[in-house]
Amino acid sequence: MSEQPAIAIRDLVKRYAPDGGGEGKLALGGVSFDVPEGGVFGLLGPNGAGKSTLINILAGMVKKTSGSVSIWGFDIDRDMRNAKRSIGIVPQEIVFDPFFTPFEVLENQAGLYGVRKELRRSMDLLRAVHLEDKARAYSRTLSGGMKRRLLIAKALVHAPPVLVLDEPTAGVDVELRRQLWELVREMNARGVTIVLTTHYLEEAEELCERIAIINHGQLIADKPTAELVGMAREKIVRITLDKDLAGPPMEEAFLKAEVIAPRTLEVTYNRDRSSAGQVLALMQQHGYAIEDVTTREADLEDVFVSLTTDSQTASAER
Ligand code: ADP
Ligand code: MG
Repeated sequence: MSEQPAIAIRDLVKRYAPDGGGEGKLALGGVSFDVPEGGVFGLLGPNGAGKSTLINILAGMVKKTSGSVSIWGFDIDRDMRNAKRSIGIVPQEIVFDPFFTPFEVLENQAGLYGVRKELRRSMDLLRAVHLEDKARAYSRTLSGGMKRRLLIAKALVHAPPVLVLDEPTAGVDVELRRQLWELVREMNARGVTIVLTTHYLEEAEELCERIAIINHGQLIADKPTAELVGMAREKIVRITLDKDLAGPPMEEAFLKAEVIAPRTLEVTYNRDRSSAGQVLALMQQHGYAIEDVTTREADLEDVFVSLTTDSQTASAER
């Protein structure tokens, strides 16, 4: 095991310049975490959390306000050249010159990075992303999924040990999402450390060994996936009753009970300790008949709420 993280981020702050008066937008408010070498790391957060800002700082496309970042041991202030060589970035948006073929796209990128002709491996890369039969097609004729795969190959031309994908599956269909997940696993199996941003908890859970969550430019969690998912063991059942509720019923099995309409109650419970059936039975014991029921898993929002509430409680107890 190597002691040096693939990426080390300390007290990272980004304030975008204001376009009128005022202070400007604080996109990252002092974020610190490490990406360990060798795994698949998820940076999870809702839209506007600061994920792309962080990725673009790694890519050298956005200038940080303060803090430090090192990639593969190279500080981006002192050694941007080596830092840049150590990382490949797949941006959120697809942009290609439509008149180049995938093979040419990779050759041009290799030229840009000064990869010598004899060291280029454009065909190998196309094979790795399952595009070898499209090597000579125009990029504009590729499907959306093929373009995304080509972007991944393009990010890998200089053989970086770290590959970063910014929302690789936002707005793609289920089939393509599966394909991209498979590809991420294949690249990781070849020894590439992967960082991906996503706003889908399910995706991070599926792919990543470790997950950091950011919200409003603040890091609110950085944990092994299993631990984090344990915090999302809550389920919510919404019940419509036959008569108006006097007030929220008190039951030990209820983590939370909220009256959201005169006859509608939302109960949060832990699925390891209770069940929807138990919740309904308890309501019947309170003298209500059940007219309608829906349940849902705690989603990313709920995990945020529970994590931020936990950290507030924890700091209040200190
Ligand atoms: P995410 O990728 O998590 O959706 P972003 O990093 O794109 O979040 O954005 C974080 C915040 O910074 C948002 O409030 C966004 O509006 C703001 N922001 C992003 N880019 C710029 C920019 N170039 N100028 C000003 N504000 C920006
Ligand atoms: Mg983004």
